[in-house]
Amino acid sequence: MKIANKTTSAVALVKEALEKAKKYEDYHIFVSLNEEAALKKAKEIDDKIKKGEEVGALAGVPYACKDNFLSPEGNTTASSKILEPFHSPITATAIKKLEDAGAIMIGRANLDSFAHGSSTENSYFGPTKNSKDKTRVAGGSSGGSAVAVALDIVEFATGTDTGGSIRQPASFNGVYGFKPTYGTISRYGVVAMASSLDCVGFFAKSPEDIDLLMSITAGQDENDMTTLPDFYGQEGYSRTSKVGIIKGFDQGLNDDIKNAYEQEIAKLKEKGYEIVELDMPTLKYALPVYYIIQPAEVASNLSRHDGVRYGFRAENIESLADVYGKSRSEGFMPENKRRIMIGNFVLSSGFYDAYYLKAQQARTLIIKEYDAAFEKCDFLLTPVSPNPAFKLGEKTSDPLSMYMEDVLSVPLNLAGLPGLAIPVGETAEGLSLGLQIVGPRRSDKALLAFASQIKEEK
Ligand code: GLN
Repeated sequence: MKIANKTTSAVALVKEALEKAKKYEDYHIFVSLNEEAALKKAKEIDDKIKKGEEVGALAGVPYACKDNFLSPEGNTTASSKILEPFHSPITATAIKKLEDAGAIMIGRANLDSFAHGSSTENSYFGPTKNSKDKTRVAGGSSGGSAVAVALDIVEFATGTDTGGSIRQPASFNGVYGFKPTYGTISRYGVVAMASSLDCVGFFAKSPEDIDLLMSITAGQDENDMTTLPDFYGQEGYSRTSKVGIIKGFDQGLNDDIKNAYEQEIAKLKEKGYEIVELDMPTLKYALPVYYIIQPAEVASNLSRHDGVRYGFRAENIESLADVYGKSRSEGFMPENKRRIMIGNFVLSSGFYDAYYLKAQQARTLIIKEYDAAFEKCDFLLTPVSPNPAFKLGEKTSDPLSMYMEDVLSVPLNLAGLPGLAIPVGETAEGLSLGLQIVGPRRSDKALLAFASQIKEEK
């Protein structure tokens, strides 16, 4: 590492990252900066190195933290008003592991409030702008994290991916974004959104960097009973030979994405990979299934924000009902409310069987369809989203068209599979294009190795 070799210092790296963060202030990447604590930690690391003491694998590496991870530095807002003054007494397991390895959080990155969205326009603090074109969205919900890495402010950023929130903004900004197998990294200390789907993951500039971050943060955690027994790095890797593509997944794609997809497939063929075309008819139900299960879980997770336990409480309260009602009404963004209402509707008696139960049954079929697909191929290659970054404001008044943007990213979340967004070029106007590699559960390290391999072979 550069710091341990004394070619630079942690303080210099953190100062540089903070300066860049300020230079790009108009992109609206950070909700808050962590200047004092970051510089203090950098100094401690430099002192340790001077004394010849051992430092971690990420010593002095500045990073951006999506603002839905809890840690005592600053406030955790989840880009919402209802949590705005919330100061956490605990540290998320993932953050603790990164910090123990010497990484330095320079700030908290903007997101769609409570991670509901695909553009970061649902943030209470206003939207983050795309790194390639300021008139366009950063993608979401982890827009701030993606742009922080794309503009080279930090080496990596944390994110959460429930239905594409790491992969889609990664592909909108030309960086790598990884959503691991469900349960690989602890969700302890992450603001809960839809618990059976939420995953912690990373944005970085290479699959190798993501591999390092995974080896540091993956692992079973007694504080999160959904974490899997340790597996990351223990599985072997044999060279990938068969790459699956899904029939019909190229329908309705923007021309640039379609061309990039076809070119990537042609390249893989040329390199000797066998391309297997798969019929996966159940995947067309993934989007509606997601938009039933996800809001149902949101409705119950967000019920804890009641004006009593955390942060914001409305003024002019006359009754207990006002404490809940007014605080929630003023504290949540419109999209939060939409999800809570849909969620309560699909869970209500009379509609539960027709919507929620049916969606869970369909989810099982989707899982089975993926399992069958991975008997025929090692990994799948698909686009991340049907369009490159759209214009700011283009879809804000039409929630359904915003949800449609998730059609290619949500299916794998329903099955708990790992997915990596890889940059594959740009449109003529310079907008980033991305594809995703999807693997079987617990193939995470092999998937990243495959991504390294195809990057080298280019
Ligand atoms: N865009 C999706 C949604 O709004 C996914 C969000 C996420 O992954 N956090 O639900």
